[in-house]
Amino acid sequence: MQETDAIIAARREMEICNACRYCEGFCAVFPAVELRREFSAGDLSYLANLCHGCKGCYYACQYSPPHEWGINVPAALAEVRAESYAEYAWPKQMAGVFERNGTVVSLVAALGIALVLLLCSLGSNFWVAQGDAAESFYNIIPLWAMQIVGIATFGYSLFALGMGARNFWRDAGPQDKIGPTAVAIALWDVLTLKNLGGAGNGCNDNSEAFSMRRRYLHHAMFYGFLLCFAATTTGFIYHSFLGWPAPYPFISAPVLLGTVGGILMVIGTIGLLAMKFVDDPIPNVRRLLGGDVALLMLLAMIAITGLVLLAARATGAMGLAMAIHLGFILAFFLVLPYSKMVHGVYRSAALLRRAIERNMKPLGGE
Ligand code: SF4
Ligand code: SF4
Repeated sequence: MQETDAIIAARREMEICNACRYCEGFCAVFPAVELRREFSAGDLSYLANLCHGCKGCYYACQYSPPHEWGINVPAALAEVRAESYAEYAWPKQMAGVFERNGTVVSLVAALGIALVLLLCSLGSNFWVAQGDAAESFYNIIPLWAMQIVGIATFGYSLFALGMGARNFWRDAGPQDKIGPTAVAIALWDVLTLKNLGGAGNGCNDNSEAFSMRRRYLHHAMFYGFLLCFAATTTGFIYHSFLGWPAPYPFISAPVLLGTVGGILMVIGTIGLLAMKFVDDPIPNVRRLLGGDVALLMLLAMIAITGLVLLAARATGAMGLAMAIHLGFILAFFLVLPYSKMVHGVYRSAALLRRAIERNMKPLGGE
């Protein structure tokens, strides 16, 4: 990480916290702070991505505004976190996308839908009436075309995310080796979203009151997304290896996984979107709101259009419903490495570093 104003401001706050240590039981950040006397830019990037933005330390802090020191750890670390997304982006030329993230995500979503609609309308089965043709997805877009576009875009995104993770690890990773126990602990922390539980009572959304709402909504979105991914994978295996072409009956693995996953995603994304507008703005960074909202809306639209496609699959509207759904998915694949989604990768890497450091002893307070 470069030495920026955000890094300098976060370093000042971490040094004060390291002397104070009142919040050491709140989350993984403060025990990690206590292992250090000095904070390099890479250390601050690690701490920023370890922070889950629960705001507990802000409401507990005796030095938060209006105190003259103005300590606001969630906002200071959110600024560094946002800079880290651009810093580690691959290729480097794409770093600027994070500046106007909301606009970029919205534009790519619109372009993705337009492109898929255009491709579909070139075929003869797009505006089909209800009947056999309307029941076969691959009459609208051939499977090979879906696979080529899907594998190319998703494969690129995974590669770019992997390169971003490598950049993060080089700058903000530990010196020590990664052991299997650390991997298991980090994996557990990721899968349970443990740190969103705060010190056991949840997050402070917009006041000193605690709530588990944010953690549960994240769970709904996260596991809904995984179930939808499992539905797509199962459908692919059915078609390609078992010779069972789509569409599948409602009581089948792809449809049941997709339906439950889609509903969970809708609950999670809409709930988190609503929370963005009731959150206390002070321990937040409002300029990052556009990118967060655009990504949540994109995920919500993927889930909603997937459920609409399920309902319309035996009607003449199936072609249009599928084109719009695939357009949103295409847009998601394209923006994946240049959106808030990268936080999942860097936070997981930060949790792994924290698990590696778990047995280190805190240094004495100042
Ligand atoms: S956030 Fe405030 S109360 Fe908590 S450790 Fe830092 S300075 Fe102390
Ligand atoms: S906002 Fe929450 S997760 Fe972040 S440093 Fe404060 S207590 Fe820890």
